[in-house]
Amino acid sequence: MEKLIYDKSTAGRRAQVLPRVGVPQKPLSEMIPAAYLRQVPAALPEVSELDLMRHFVRLSHLNHCIETGFYPLGSCTMKYNPKVNDAMAALEGFREIHPHQPEDQVQGALELIYKLEQSISAIVGLPAVTLQPAAGAHGEMTGLLLIKAYFEAKGDTKRKKVIVPDTAHGTNPATAAMVGFEVVEIKSNERGLVDLEALKAALGPDTAAIMLTNPNTLGLFEEEIMQVQQLVHAAGGLIYYDGANLNAIMGLVRPGDMGFDVCHLNLHKTFSTPHGGGGPGACAVACRDILEPFLPKPTVVKHGDTYAFDWDRPKSIGKIKGFYGNFGILVRAYTYIAAHGRDGLCQVSRDAILNANYLKNKLSRNFVVAYPQNCMHEFVLSGVKQKERGVSTAHMAKRLLDFGVHAPTVYFPLLVPEAMMIEPTETESMETLDRFADIMLGIDKETIEDPDTVRNAPFKTPVGKLDEAMAARKPNLRWTPSQQ
Ligand SMILES: *Cc1c(COP(=O)(O)O)cnc(C)c1O
Repeated sequence: MEKLIYDKSTAGRRAQVLPRVGVPQKPLSEMIPAAYLRQVPAALPEVSELDLMRHFVRLSHLNHCIETGFYPLGSCTMKYNPKVNDAMAALEGFREIHPHQPEDQVQGALELIYKLEQSISAIVGLPAVTLQPAAGAHGEMTGLLLIKAYFEAKGDTKRKKVIVPDTAHGTNPATAAMVGFEVVEIKSNERGLVDLEALKAALGPDTAAIMLTNPNTLGLFEEEIMQVQQLVHAAGGLIYYDGANLNAIMGLVRPGDMGFDVCHLNLHKTFSTPHGGGGPGACAVACRDILEPFLPKPTVVKHGDTYAFDWDRPKSIGKIKGFYGNFGILVRAYTYIAAHGRDGLCQVSRDAILNANYLKNKLSRNFVVAYPQNCMHEFVLSGVKQKERGVSTAHMAKRLLDFGVHAPTVYFPLLVPEAMMIEPTETESMETLDRFADIMLGIDKETIEDPDTVRNAPFKTPVGKLDEAMAARKPNLRWTPSQQ
């Protein structure tokens, strides 16, 4: 490896030498309280601007990203993020506006929010939308707060339980608990779908809602969704759709038509904003008319040709994010939707499903497929056969890194042993899928012929196999200068 920048330091070398300031300057000690002033200069490496730039560019290449390699991380929708989205978000009229500017100066931004809400409403088949939440889990919280406010307004105070199937994304039970509901888990049936008998047993006058994802986190479509929604509604509960990932259903089926009362969509996932690493993200929450009065305020309204914020919403759950959400992400999502149009979005979902089934069939030769029926946009393999040879899913996931491929989501969903959850997305070519299948089948062969190689991988990454517990508990993230 090339020397790190810290070891390239040469005394007196500078990135930039600017001319001295030509106007009188206050001394630092007058501008910064003495307690905060350094007694000795920071021991920073002294390097040229070119070396500094190479340092940061090189660092940026040490991580895997969608722009450098295939990223089949199930449930995360690591698709290509079109660069035109960034160009639109960088338009001066969007980039330079200030959140405190008066409404008449930001009509374009309000129009974009309004139109994006309308597009989302059309895609999910629910009439009212907010774009305030900053992420999927934040959207779940917003949705459950709407449900809570709805029952409180009706004086129905005994509905304290939220039902969550065992396939649910971990954020679902966490959100329900955070909003103050009691979480009731129900088991899936042998086909990986909601078990109607288990659901009936869980439902009662204390049920506030059920949280579902369809397709569920096994990548399977809940065929009995209409019975599910009828049972929940008959018990007086509401039904929540976790649409964090909408990649399989756009233009094919709408949560509103499946009977859902409220849903959230991650705009950073299906609607193509780069994600992972902590954001920023954005989330749309859409709901039926009965929940609309409780939506966060302000909402964006249109009077004639003029857009405005509506703060006069007495039943609103209030504000859930500063200003109006992460606006730059809303611009990206709107660009993505406008660039694809109705037919294009429909094609996205068809291609996502096709890619997943193509890959699943190729891999089913040597890997156990957890549920054999056709999948939607993702599928789950089980590494049980390889485990019998002494090689775990964790080992195989690390081995993939040697081929420049990110690992799938592993050990989730929890009900599949040695799970590998694979989501190829529609933006990958058939050649990439073929290459990935060859790599996976090659690793399977290694588990028979050379299991130690898989067990000790990775070999080609910037750092080799780590003690993951220690790396998480005692991370060594800081460069410490040598004594001078
Ligand atoms: C990603 C995801 C979430 C959480 O979204 P965040 O933006 O990470 O908070 C929730 N549910 C499902 C099904 C997801 O895939």
